Amino acid sequence: MSIDIQKIRKDFPILDQMVHGKPLAYFDNAATAHKPQQVIDAIDEVYTTYNSNIHRGVHHLSNVCTQAFEDARVKVQNFINAPHSHEVIFTRGTTEAINLIATSFGESFLKAGDEVIVSQLEHHSNIVPWQLLEKRKGIVLKVIPINDAGELVLDDLDDFLTERTKLVAVAHISNALGTINPIKTIIDRAHAKSIPVMIDGAQAVQHLKVDVQALDCDFYVFSGHKIYGPTGIGALYGKEEWLNKMEPYQGGGEMIQTVSFDGTTFNELPFKFEAGTPDYSGAVGMGAAIDYVNAIGLENIAAYEQELLEYGMEQLSQIPGIQFYGTAKEKASVISFIVGNIHPFDMGTMLDKLGLAVRTGHHCAQPLMQRYNIPGTVRASFAVYNTKEEIDRLVAGVKRVSLLFA
Ligand code: PLP
Repeated sequence: MSIDIQKIRKDFPILDQMVHGKPLAYFDNAATAHKPQQVIDAIDEVYTTYNSNIHRGVHHLSNVCTQAFEDARVKVQNFINAPHSHEVIFTRGTTEAINLIATSFGESFLKAGDEVIVSQLEHHSNIVPWQLLEKRKGIVLKVIPINDAGELVLDDLDDFLTERTKLVAVAHISNALGTINPIKTIIDRAHAKSIPVMIDGAQAVQHLKVDVQALDCDFYVFSGHKIYGPTGIGALYGKEEWLNKMEPYQGGGEMIQTVSFDGTTFNELPFKFEAGTPDYSGAVGMGAAIDYVNAIGLENIAAYEQELLEYGMEQLSQIPGIQFYGTAKEKASVISFIVGNIHPFDMGTMLDKLGLAVRTGHHCAQPLMQRYNIPGTVRASFAVYNTKEEIDRLVAGVKRVSLLFA
């Protein structure tokens, strides 16, 4: 099935606008993707027809709202093929999900000297929570290196995985480079030594089909807003044998069974990890986003985005002095580059004047920028609503700015 991009674009009202007198071309999808009307309508419907706090109510609206929230959980479950819906925890996003794991898994299983392995291309949200744990508990963070193309170097992985290694935590896809990491290989090799693996899927679920059972990962986390859903909501999948053994992350309403001043017992999964009123409208919105993506078909989205990636790389590579960062064989639709000695910030600011929205800077991956010895890059990241015509405008814009600086 081929997809009708013009029809898809009509679903996204925000795309139809002028910026600095030019039609908007939005290439900042790795930071956040826009929301189709279907998602906006689903959230609108929560507040206009059935808003009510969930789980504890006996009245009609509360029951409708609870059902919608739990339906959204099942949508997430099916989306990533999790065995059980109670293995899906709603969080504020990827960042909170990783902090939850670092804190709860860390409190429950890690002690001084234990090792957690990340990679050189991680987003700060898969580095800093572990560094906090380094400070709190004296754990040791080890880093899988990358080669110049931005691919993980796994030659020494087996030596890396020692009897002290308690968790491997790596990105599925790099936000700054687009590299698709060989996570199945990493999971299998870690599991061969009985080491659990957490996958940061913030940049993956919108680009490729994820099956947590086929991967056999222990944890998989992602954000709603990068997959055409709302901000402030995300999901953590965890195998129940881990989640059941982990300490709760936060204390409060809903995560308890009984509370007295003599002690508290905790609720069953998933509620044990969902203290307080959750973002139920966000969850419903994320469910609608999943429906939206499913209706187009992730394989269709992936094929189209690969076409955009190839076209973009081919066209941009004709610009004199352009240097790409992230040229892995397996790559998602993210292009990171610098032209000559033009500072990414200058390039981004001038492209904005042409209606071209790119991201510039370190992309919350400063250790990765240090690896390449650069302050940052210009990043164009494509979503299903981008077009080759927009890429032509981007290429013309980059050429124009390059000439101005020449
Ligand atoms: N991990 C990766 C790979 C990301 O790209 C991002 C966001 O850009 C995050 C984690 C953090 O996601 P959020 O800000 O939605 O929590």
